Amino acid sequence: MQNAPIASLMPVYKRVDLTFSHGEGSWLVDTAGRRWLDFASGIAVTGLGHGHPHLVRTLQDQAARLWHVSNLWRIEPLERLADRLVAHSFADTVFVGNSGTEMIEGCIKLARRFHWAAGRPERYRIVTFEGAFHGRTMGAISAAGSAKLTEGCAPLLEGFDHVPFGDHEALHRAIGPETAAILIEPIQGEGGIRVVPPQCLEGLRALCDAHDLLLIFDEVQCGLGRTGKLFAHEWSNARPDVMALAKGLGGGFPIGAILATARAASGMTAGSHGSTFGGNPLACAVANAVLDVMLADGFLADVARKGELLRARLSALAEAHPAVIAEVRGKGLLAGIRTLPSNADVAAALREEGLLTVAAADNVLRLLPPLTITEEEIGLATAAIDAACRRLAAA
Ligand SMILES: *Cc1c(COP(=O)(O)O)cnc(C)c1O
Repeated sequence: MQNAPIASLMPVYKRVDLTFSHGEGSWLVDTAGRRWLDFASGIAVTGLGHGHPHLVRTLQDQAARLWHVSNLWRIEPLERLADRLVAHSFADTVFVGNSGTEMIEGCIKLARRFHWAAGRPERYRIVTFEGAFHGRTMGAISAAGSAKLTEGCAPLLEGFDHVPFGDHEALHRAIGPETAAILIEPIQGEGGIRVVPPQCLEGLRALCDAHDLLLIFDEVQCGLGRTGKLFAHEWSNARPDVMALAKGLGGGFPIGAILATARAASGMTAGSHGSTFGGNPLACAVANAVLDVMLADGFLADVARKGELLRARLSALAEAHPAVIAEVRGKGLLAGIRTLPSNADVAAALREEGLLTVAAADNVLRLLPPLTITEEEIGLATAAIDAACRRLAAA
């Protein structure tokens, strides 16, 4: 399974030479008929697994009725989705788009327009954190700021102040008369499953209140049930003013959302923002179906319980294989192991055992099973990791 460049595709991805024909729950089946246990979930997207009957039926029904009309008219599935996101969050108001990076762009505009509308146009800068990932548009790469993302793309969008992860003094120093907002992932995903402790999120809330800044949470990866709460920040007492969602929201259908308080969204007046595809009936119908499942009694508690089980098993494996697993990270089913061999080598060894994972920064491998994973499947995954660790340790 070497990387396979495809002549007709821009080589921006290093692809593994594996093609899947279909999926069933926690499993993917490749074109040769081999079954793979999917602990990648399309990078925390297919949170309800593959081929979930309620999602499939919803998409088919909606496809037969109405695909697209535009926000020039009212859209029933969009209004229902917005009402439900408001009912189950800190937010008063929602904008729906198509992807995580597009939502981050919207958050940047929202933060700038909030201060502009309040007569403080000089406040446009946003504090962000090293190791962050916010997407691939110019605004999102400028926000994250790492050379890996921004190389060759200059000039970047101006107005971001990057502070080291966990450096409270640098954070305080970065706030000045031009600061508009703080943007943070409650759990860094691409950055290596780095959890921001609840008291730090609460500290950020207090800091934003003291300086009249907007607190923006990027929950594109950690949100939507992944940690065992609907939103990751709900493990703390901190509530943001604004939040970006995407990945898990559509269960595999592209959709993103910005949630905000009415006050934070006060600059988002008619004509100030938009999206041709945003809020389309297909995406919103599927997102509503995702919420039907996630909001059902006991679903999120079960995710939290399975997350504890997975992490306990991973901790035992780290003790058994100290030459391979250095550290276990995460919350709920957003789990990561920092490996001592290169994470790419460990991922390849896991593939030989039939387990699919995703690499992250900091030499971390992410374990992102569908939230519908069974205990038995968690057992299969940890047995596969055990077997791979044995082989790696013996090599
Ligand atoms: C994936 C991701 C994004 C970007 O989402 P896209 O849908 O790929 O544009 C933004 N923020 C975080 C935290 C992400 O994990």
